[in-house]
Amino acid sequence: MKATALACGLALSIVLQPLPAAAGTPVATGTGGAVATISAQASQSALAILDQGGNAIDAAVAAAATLGVTDPFSCGIGGGGFMVIYLARDKRVITIDHRETAPASFTPHAFLENGKPLDFDTAVASGAAVGVPGTVRGWHEALQRYGTMDFKQVLAPAIEVANKGYPVTEIFSHLTAENERKFQLYAPTSALYLRSGKAVQPGAVIRNPGMARAYAEIAQGGVKAFYEGPIARAIVAAVNTPPLNPGKTARAGRMTMADLANYEARIRQPLRSTYRGYEIYGMPLPSSGGATVAEALNILEGYDLKAMPRAEAEHLYLEASRLAFADRNAYLADPEYLDAPVAGIVSKAYAAERRKLIKRQAARSAHAGDPYSYQDDQSVPLRPQSKGLQLENAHTTHLTVSDKDGNVVAYTFTIESWGGSGIVVPGYGFLLNNEMTDFDFSGPHPNVPEAGKRPRSSMAPTIALKDGKPAFTIGSPGGATIITTVLQTIFNYIDLGMPMDQALNAPRLSERNGDATSIEPGFPGSAQARALQGFGQRWEAAPEEIGAANALVFNPDGTVTAVSEGKRHGVGTALVQRRGH
Ligand code: GLU
Repeated sequence: MKATALACGLALSIVLQPLPAAAGTPVATGTGGAVATISAQASQSALAILDQGGNAIDAAVAAAATLGVTDPFSCGIGGGGFMVIYLARDKRVITIDHRETAPASFTPHAFLENGKPLDFDTAVASGAAVGVPGTVRGWHEALQRYGTMDFKQVLAPAIEVANKGYPVTEIFSHLTAENERKFQLYAPTSALYLRSGKAVQPGAVIRNPGMARAYAEIAQGGVKAFYEGPIARAIVAAVNTPPLNPGKTARAGRMTMADLANYEARIRQPLRSTYRGYEIYGMPLPSSGGATVAEALNILEGYDLKAMPRAEAEHLYLEASRLAFADRNAYLADPEYLDAPVAGIVSKAYAAERRKLIKRQAARSAHAGDPYSYQDDQSVPLRPQSKGLQLENAHTTHLTVSDKDGNVVAYTFTIESWGGSGIVVPGYGFLLNNEMTDFDFSGPHPNVPEAGKRPRSSMAPTIALKDGKPAFTIGSPGGATIITTVLQTIFNYIDLGMPMDQALNAPRLSERNGDATSIEPGFPGSAQARALQGFGQRWEAAPEEIGAANALVFNPDGTVTAVSEGKRHGVGTALVQRRGH
């Protein structure tokens, strides 16, 4: 593959006088609109749009666009996502699926070489991993159908941040360092995020005029500017001839202008389930998030958790998650390519069957059940077999916004791994996703790659209603741990009775039917850990921070509390339009 020269004029410039970083405020209560994101600038963008009279949908897009600038390794216009929206006037919940699709050139052999699955990291850092980005189409649908503003208005705050610059945090620098090898492959990426081949240091200020230009072209030309214009041509060129540094190699993809022009977002009905008097609205397939959370909650609903010691309740949470993941791993994939037994998986009767498998001692591993007998139509002949957990990377971002009229957004979007494929689109400053590695590399499996298909996701933006009104929202990044973070936060909040900030800050335990439960640093050896070990629970050897959640709580007195992380991923920023009552 030929090395491509640096697009120097548009390379990100790193200036050495730091801008003051806005202090994180992880909890805020008040009236009017509210927002919680992991980035101070993104939360401020949402608030600015709300203050200008925009609604929650407008503000969510503004925050997302800003996150694309300040958190470019976890999200952006080079990726895709899932938005769940509560429309106050209609009293209904809708979702916008703007997951990336496989280019038309894809086949089930896309990630096989000589019949064997490709090395995962090699597959990630390549043009072949890039799916057709869905984010801009998703934002377009959100604004056109449910917003009040246009791209020009909602992208303005992000353009300002991209032009003015933002300070590099410890985490940003650390993530860059972790991805140095991937970023060293590509010329525009090294120009943006590396200095002499090494990660940009904390305190530097990053400006990204290329991304400002991409946003300005979208503001000017609308959705077509991205899918049919010069940006589309630049994406196709970057995928098919990755802009490598001299001496580096990476696999090319095969994407066409038609793949981009044909990309469609899907308006989908939310996946609705109930839990102890709450209506839980989550994301349907191709995200496994909603169904897996619903199955686990349905299993847990059969226990009087409040009456139990905490360790016993948490043991049940882990076992319910294990069972739900066994089904997720076996059955769930893009519903346009497969008749997945979702109705069975989320039925209360099926949960009652699954519950019988839970013992006082932790299971080693769970098998998928037979949800087909709980479907309305039981004639489906195919019974996919359970499969181990596919290797997945994590990261992504989640944000949540409400407005004074009662509209609510829970939005998770991603470029898949930290830094996605590692390919920055020359001249446009945004990273392309590696979402295609969310497919199972080898079959038979419902989630094998196919032309036009959307890889199974774990993203789980969730809006809960009580008595017909929004009660809370929750969502998180973290690959498959997204599901357990959302599930555990709901369990902490509803069953353990924690206020939402405590529910978020509690140590996260993620059981995904693997060999052992994922845990966070500081957890092993704690009293909580020892009590759970009494139930036979086992921990992964290498603790790691899990997720970066954001939530809203609609209080009985009419106020809203926005909640972000108090410790993880730095400190998040929760803001309300008017503080206090
Ligand atoms: N690609 C992941 C998914 O769709 C999300 C990215 C992440 O957080 O790992 O489930």
